[in-house]
Amino acid sequence: MRSTTGHSRRTYRDMRDFRKPPKQAMRKGMWKKHNPIFVIQKHAARRLHYDFRLEMNGVLKSWAVPKGPSTNPKDRRLAVQVEDHRLDYADFEGVIGEGEYGSGSVIVWDAGPYRNIKKDKAGHEVAMDAALKKGGIEIWLEGKKVRGGYALIRTKLAGKKENWLLIKMRDEGQDIRGSPTEKQPRSVLTDRTIEQVAAEQERERR
Ligand code: MN
Repeated sequence: MRSTTGHSRRTYRDMRDFRKPPKQAMRKGMWKKHNPIFVIQKHAARRLHYDFRLEMNGVLKSWAVPKGPSTNPKDRRLAVQVEDHRLDYADFEGVIGEGEYGSGSVIVWDAGPYRNIKKDKAGHEVAMDAALKKGGIEIWLEGKKVRGGYALIRTKLAGKKENWLLIKMRDEGQDIRGSPTEKQPRSVLTDRTIEQVAAEQERERR
């Protein structure tokens, strides 16, 4: 069965297991065998936000970023840690029904492999789970829209331990004028906007 965009339902189902990625995603270079993945899902819930997720120890560690990631190192974006998600949620696109947790439409806004670049003062790599526990993560992202180093720093803003900041590090991936959330709104998997996903689902329901 084909939807109006020409993406078959089967394609979506296959894409949910990213350990066996479909050719489309492989061609786009988003899934590589030897690196964990990151994904940023744009989520039009009660309030629009971006869910930033990192594959770690078999789950997706997750933060809700109200303003989305910035490519400007001067921006500090609030990132509220939320519950871990299952790995197979990494390429979910669609509409979460009303009454369910996080109801609203979702697209995969960016995704790709990431590397841990966190070092201690002696220059030794700090493992991801130790960095998470310490509240100081540094990673290198190879997305289509966001690239290079990003730091996630726990701040306990307003006394809440789940409040972190997502900050672009200074490197060739920075772009002080760029605003990828505004200029590149579409899904990296299906090239749809979040409005199109919502509208398609609405049509299928009728
Ligand atoms: Mn969300």
